[in-house]
Amino acid sequence: MPGHVFGRSTRGSLPIARTGDGCYIIDATGKRYLDGSGGAAVSCLGHSDPDIRAALHDQLDRLAFAHTGFFTSDAAETLADLLIADAPEGIDRAYLVSGGSEAVEAAIKLARQYFMETGQPQRHRVIARRQSYHGNTLGALAAGGNEWRRAQFAPLLVETSHIAPCYAYRDRQEGESLHDYGRRVADELETEILRLGPETVMAFVAEPVVGATMGAVPAVPGYLKRIREICDRHGVLLILDEVMCGMGRTGQLYACTADGVAPDMITVAKGLGAGYQPIGALLTSARIYDAIAAGSGFFQHGHTYMGHAMAAAGAGAVLRAIHDRGLLAQVQSRGAMLQAALEARFGQHPHIGDIRGRGLFRGLEIVMDRETKDPFDSARKLHAKVKAAAMEEGLICYPMGGTIDGQRGDHILLAPPFIISTDQITELTDKLARAV
Ligand code: PMP
Repeated sequence: MPGHVFGRSTRGSLPIARTGDGCYIIDATGKRYLDGSGGAAVSCLGHSDPDIRAALHDQLDRLAFAHTGFFTSDAAETLADLLIADAPEGIDRAYLVSGGSEAVEAAIKLARQYFMETGQPQRHRVIARRQSYHGNTLGALAAGGNEWRRAQFAPLLVETSHIAPCYAYRDRQEGESLHDYGRRVADELETEILRLGPETVMAFVAEPVVGATMGAVPAVPGYLKRIREICDRHGVLLILDEVMCGMGRTGQLYACTADGVAPDMITVAKGLGAGYQPIGALLTSARIYDAIAAGSGFFQHGHTYMGHAMAAAGAGAVLRAIHDRGLLAQVQSRGAMLQAALEARFGQHPHIGDIRGRGLFRGLEIVMDRETKDPFDSARKLHAKVKAAAMEEGLICYPMGGTIDGQRGDHILLAPPFIISTDQITELTDKLARAV
């Protein structure tokens, strides 16, 4: 199995990435790859952004690191304020970490601390959804609903149960309106809370637009509002995982604002670093922050590199670029173009059953039969074949499926840089069509 870098030539057949040029990565042989998925929804500004490079150089020339146990920094304070400035109502504290799994891990641990501090120590259970991924550290892994990933590490440290995802393409019943469908699947949360006993349930975790495991599937209108009501009714914290779909990817800085929902916690990462530095953040309310700050405090949980000045300086420049260059509007317009181009190419394709998403976060579902929506046998590993064929074509896309994550078939996730041009959208769909 190639990949993940273990040294002594264990890299297998992977190409060596040497340089970046806008939306392209160039390998050691000079071959150019159009980055159609931002790696995994990471590289939102492309690979050679002058403003981010300048911000990193500037911070490096002054100071790279000061431990957050001793100091804060201008870069970290500025970043925290930028993240809060455009956050949904009630979100007004930012805890800076180094990636998505760390952000989810922090959410779970701080939720637990919050309930310990507010006299509800029996609240320890997490509810999430099947076919979900929330990270690979033990707590985040426990939240995720993928049996293939979980099985060999069971029993996991956080007790989690899983309800149905919101996946209208596959699960809506005949004659059922989108609204009724959303309500029906959201109500599974209440059934599960009541089954477990509300006094034992700590949090519900979900992605507003599901990325890696389903291929850019937005919740149907009204679903998240219903989820919010149910959480409120039972005193359960709502954690929205925007590690993939956040930071402008869907055309809103925070994807959940399109659903009109304000969660208790939001996790972000990937696009926040834009690939220039590892960083993530957990955003939460003053209410939760205050309860922990007045009690056991934040030294219960932390990492050496949290609030890293270089990472924060780069991420601050990413947020400024998104804001100052009007990139959210650009994501909306280019996203609509990408959707139209995909529909023109694949709308009649016998093995593409659905084309969906929001902004520059799009997914195609591979099916054996468009009528029955039956997936291909996962043993065929179609997603891996599409990935290899696309790499051959000089296109980076993010197919997933089969036993890896899709659980119900294969899909292709697209998440190109926000700076993708109209010509590059055509190049992307041409190359993808050849690969598929
Ligand atoms: N949550 C979601 C929704 C993700 O997509 C991912 C990464 N694919 C993570 C958490 C974990 O992030 P990281 O890989 O940065 O630890």
